[in-house]
Amino acid sequence: MATPRVFNFAAGPAVLPLPVLEEAQRDLVSMPGVGMSILEMSHRGKFFEGVLQQTEKDIRTLAGVPDDYKVLFLPGGASLQFSMVPLNFLPRDGSADYIVSGAWSQKAVKEAKKVGGVKIAWTGEADNFKTIPAQGDLTLDPNAAFVAFTSNETIHGVEFKYVPETAGVPLVCDTSSDMFSRPLDVKQHALIYAGAQKNIGPAGVALVIVKDEWLKKRVDDPKLPTMLNYAIHAENGSMYNTPPVFAIYIMGLVMKWLLGLGGLDGIHAINQRKAAKLYAEIDRTGFFRGHSAKDCRSLMNVTFRLPSQELEDKFAKEAKAAGLDGLKGHRSVGGLRASIYNAFPEEGVDALVSFMQEFEKKNG
Ligand code: PMP
Repeated sequence: MATPRVFNFAAGPAVLPLPVLEEAQRDLVSMPGVGMSILEMSHRGKFFEGVLQQTEKDIRTLAGVPDDYKVLFLPGGASLQFSMVPLNFLPRDGSADYIVSGAWSQKAVKEAKKVGGVKIAWTGEADNFKTIPAQGDLTLDPNAAFVAFTSNETIHGVEFKYVPETAGVPLVCDTSSDMFSRPLDVKQHALIYAGAQKNIGPAGVALVIVKDEWLKKRVDDPKLPTMLNYAIHAENGSMYNTPPVFAIYIMGLVMKWLLGLGGLDGIHAINQRKAAKLYAEIDRTGFFRGHSAKDCRSLMNVTFRLPSQELEDKFAKEAKAAGLDGLKGHRSVGGLRASIYNAFPEEGVDALVSFMQEFEKKNG
């Protein structure tokens, strides 16, 4: 008998839709009509070419990606994008504005500083990233090469509810932990990227959506390694080298699953309902305390504290024993974190809410 699946609240790699896993399992050894595994076939062959094209098409449909944007599937995860964005778009004597709303924006800043100038448009560091700035809080340089922000901070659990207005300065967004969890207006951005392993697939691939016009304006650096050059990947349809074929294939299945749920509006409604249940329980008494300010709460990563570290450890341990796995928060925030991405089932949220109520009764 196979081990039953637990409710997996991990921050990433994270839970994938069960029908996706089942389809991948069914077809793993021999892809219907092909007779070999997706893991074994040439990336230049007809079958994989079809997978790549269909995945791109579904992404375009799902997010309404305009025709003058490229959709790229790149190796190296979101962290490589922290470097690729400035290497391609930050003139070495210029500067870019970074909005620092949590640990991941900080990491992006660290890499950008190795390439050129960085101005901090806003930082929430002083209160350990409990809030998101209002538009009026941002100090933006009209001459910046771009403005970079993180739409959802995975560790701190704070999320932008709006897209910053940059008065024509290209906007770059790290959407690693909220990609395709809610409607997205691609047109407001010059470049959007996400590591796949939370909402849209397995680890090993980053999805990049970039505007053609901006791509043409990239810094002309002859020393830029080929693999770090967006234009090369775009010209070669993400096939300059062997792409992460399995990760792209699974992403393709996830896109179909999302379209079947009614696209971004459909999944957003589900995600809002799941998060509302959890935050309502956090707010019900004073026993649990949310980390983030109420108007900045993430729909994806719900961060909360208990009255003591001891109770937090006990909670995580007992929850795990009850089949609620991966709830321990990141060490920089402490407490608990429930990551409830697209594929996280609503029954798992209900189970956590019941567990929280029981735990409070016994320990409150
Ligand atoms: N940005 C955000 C918002 C993230 O949550 C993560 C991963 N947790 C990263 C970037 C880094 O992603 P990767 O591990 O794919 O490099």
